[in-house]
Amino acid sequence: MQKIVHVRPLDDVIGHEESHECPCGPTGKGVSNPATEKVVGVIFHHHGLHPCHEWEASSL
Ligand SMILES: [Zn+2]
Repeated sequence: MQKIVHVRPLDDVIGHEESHECPCGPTGKGVSNPATEKVVGVIFHHHGLHPCHEWEASSL
């Protein structure tokens, strides 16, 4: 089963959705198991509109 993780800033000027349709346009990056080369999940790294200090990683 694949895991979706969103890394979002908490102190940004906009609220970030736990979705790839978030207005900041997060880019998804596949993560694979080096032993099996099977994709085990996707990390979406959101883009802060200004330098943010507090970030949170959450999975759906
Ligand atoms: Zn976002």
